[in-house]
Amino acid sequence: MSRVPAPLLPALALVVAGAAAPAAAQVSRPEPVYEGSDRIEEWSARRILVVTPHPDDETFTSGGTLAMLAANGNEIRVVVYTTDNAGSRDPSMTKDRLKAIRRAEEEEACRILGIPKENIVWLGHDDGMLEYVDRRELTRQVAREIRRFKPDALFSVDPGSPYEQYHKSDHRSGAIITVDAIRAARWRLYFPELEAEGFEAWSVPLVFFYYSASPNYTVDITGVAETKARASAAHISQFGSMVDRYDPAAVEEQRKEWAARLLERAERENGRVVERFRRSTAY
Ligand SMILES: [Zn+2]
Repeated sequence: MSRVPAPLLPALALVVAGAAAPAAAQVSRPEPVYEGSDRIEEWSARRILVVTPHPDDETFTSGGTLAMLAANGNEIRVVVYTTDNAGSRDPSMTKDRLKAIRRAEEEEACRILGIPKENIVWLGHDDGMLEYVDRRELTRQVAREIRRFKPDALFSVDPGSPYEQYHKSDHRSGAIITVDAIRAARWRLYFPELEAEGFEAWSVPLVFFYYSASPNYTVDITGVAETKARASAAHISQFGSMVDRYDPAAVEEQRKEWAARLLERAERENGRVVERFRRSTAY
């Protein structure tokens, strides 16, 4: 998007700008042809694990695909690294209050997408501080969740995105830790204590990376684009004036306004609303 109304949180600004940015950075290779069971639209009764730095990244990038997967009878679990408790300029905001707001927003967004709140796992780390959490412990935490859920596919931030070099630490760290945890989940001797806890090794067969600079997999989400826009707008404390002054009385109205705006700005290709991922079996 060339014109983004200020003020927007960096996270959203990235998403809005990010919709256009990867196109410029994209390699010119044509997208591989994926058919049959390689098409995510065909899936049912599969287990999908989402591992996200903040409780909004997955909604903004993958909400349409997740809504479709949920509607088709797949089980989705969402692991959130941080509580997102620092992204507000409201002088009266506290970290505890923001944590509660962001938690409720994520639960509402997931509800709209068809994911029950019981399927959200909060690792509970402070917003912006993921880089300073003990990396061994963090990797073990995520490896444990992978082994617990045994996903058929996993969604997370692309660790190869150029803009991760300067984007917030949680995205850099989250991206790297997730792929390290996928490896640690696969090899039983990485964290033998997990096996002792009853979590046996599990190989994640397929990963869809979002925020990718080199996407190779496009999903047509036109049928659920409105659902995605509503779910994204559920994160209303991340938008516009609500960042500067959170007004509980304005939540409903602001959500409606932003849902319409986000739908209008959704990434499109040949008139269809799309989401793009880097699909990978090697990581
Ligand atoms: Zn984020």
